[in-house]
Amino acid sequence: MVTSIRINNSTLELVEGDITLQAVDAIVNAANSALSGGGGVDGAIHRAGGIAIMAECRKIGRCPAGTAIITTAGQLPCKYVIHTVGPVYGGGNRGEAALLASSYRSSLTLAKEHGFKSVAFPSISTGVYSYPVEEAAAIALRTVVDFLKTEPSKIELLRFVLFSGADFKTYSTVLGRLNK
Ligand code: ADP
Repeated sequence: MVTSIRINNSTLELVEGDITLQAVDAIVNAANSALSGGGGVDGAIHRAGGIAIMAECRKIGRCPAGTAIITTAGQLPCKYVIHTVGPVYGGGNRGEAALLASSYRSSLTLAKEHGFKSVAFPSISTGVYSYPVEEAAAIALRTVVDFLKTEPSKIELLRFVLFSGADFKTYSTVLGRLNK
């Protein structure tokens, strides 16, 4: 299933799938601040991409929540991996929303600076970091829509790759609400 809308010269697309299979300029990783790899989408990206990605992460060292860094994509079908760190959800009163928005913005700023045409995001912070999916989807979609509306860039395709049918449905519903 695919849902998409046009924003200026870009397409914002939602799909259900596996981000490691996306042949885009850059996929975004929901990393941790030590860039040490782990479970979830982070583990899947390092497993599929091979050791080159971790070698660069080690050289870079750290990535505070709300910021992003970029590495090679190793053996992945995409060209680069943008690693960002979302907030750990602690109830919603600890600046989580601002940090989550900042993760998306920082990732898109890197994509813009590199002149990328296509970028794919997972649902940052909604796995191990426990951000409620509907709230996170509203922040994610509002932030990327604002970016595409206000920041001139070469980005033609911004794709959210949702790992479950339930997440795809939630993101689709939230996008429909936002787009009214
Ligand atoms: P975080 O620590 O930021 O919460 P997780 O990796 O635990 O990150 O989860 C973020 C989201 O990524 C979850 O919705 C999870 O289901 C999803 N996910 C896990 N593996 C993949 C994958 N291969 N492709 C896309 N999304 C994935």
